[in-house]
Amino acid sequence: MKRIGYVGLGIMGTPMALNLIKAGFDLTVWNRTEAKAKDVLDAGASWAESPAEVAEKVEAVCINVTDTPDVEDVIFGKHGIVEGNPGDTAEMVVIDHSTISPASTRLFAERLAEHGVDMLDAPVSGGDVGARNGTLSVMVGGKRAVFERCSLIFKAVGKAITHCGPNGAGQATKACNQVLCAVNLMGVCEAMALAQREGLDLEKMLAVTTAGAGGSWSLANLGPQIAEGDMKPGFMIDLINKDLNIVQAESTGLNLPMPATGLARDLLRAAAISGHGRDGTQALSRVFEKLGGFTYHE
Ligand code: NAP
Repeated sequence: MKRIGYVGLGIMGTPMALNLIKAGFDLTVWNRTEAKAKDVLDAGASWAESPAEVAEKVEAVCINVTDTPDVEDVIFGKHGIVEGNPGDTAEMVVIDHSTISPASTRLFAERLAEHGVDMLDAPVSGGDVGARNGTLSVMVGGKRAVFERCSLIFKAVGKAITHCGPNGAGQATKACNQVLCAVNLMGVCEAMALAQREGLDLEKMLAVTTAGAGGSWSLANLGPQIAEGDMKPGFMIDLINKDLNIVQAESTGLNLPMPATGLARDLLRAAAISGHGRDGTQALSRVFEKLGGFTYHE
């Protein structure tokens, strides 16, 4: 596969598309807001007027948009990917890197199969930093043969690339990942609150605990941002809330109690309500500051 399409050039899509160009793929792109395609077009990609026009020109289309209805829209909506699908014989693949519902993903894959198009759900983890460095974890659901056919695409954007199972298994794995991120971040905020109220040097506390058994990605990457009061997104509060709504729908369907995730979801919702929806997830710390009547960087 050489000719690849990219639909959705946001915080994640842009650096992932740039890495595909760097790896030698011939890229055709579309983004709802055309101006945001500038970096990718400057790097050598071609512009298409719609997802359908992207699909007409390529062998695989990568999608990186916000939520489940957005993915449905760019695939099945007006001027969507299926309208531009060249037909059964072309063996087109849709690779969805967005984080969306596992249940809807299974349905999208069935609907695409009716058009002769294969689908891989391939959500990623590792944030904007991993996207820029090409070091994302990629968790893939779909037919193994299709996964193997697309392996060079995944290698251009990621390091840990795993075929998790049939369609939906990639998104279900990502849902597990988001549970870990949310619950762990809650622990980071709480431990740092205790450190602050104990009068500890936060920098020292972070250095020691990051190297110990309590260490985690959130502690290493978001802990220093919390200490410095830097709320710039990487990964936005609104997006993790979207993901925890997906987890809630799955757990309701499975009749599975998930008490820690429920608490994290409520606190992250409080962060959005108090105006931090478009800040990074580390802005959960602002809720802990309000609850405890302190600030992390006094
Ligand atoms: P983002 O910067 O907000 O970008 C979202 C992209 O989706 C934009 O290109 C936007 O177009 C497009 N879009 C949204 N709704 C659309 C629609 N209905 N039709 C067409 N295009 C639409 O978000 P992001 O951080 O790149 O996240 C993208 C996906 O990756 C999300 O599912 C997110 O959960 C997941 N993710 C993000 C991170 C992270 O650290 N940021 C990490 C892992 C996974 P416009 O430019 O026109 O707004």
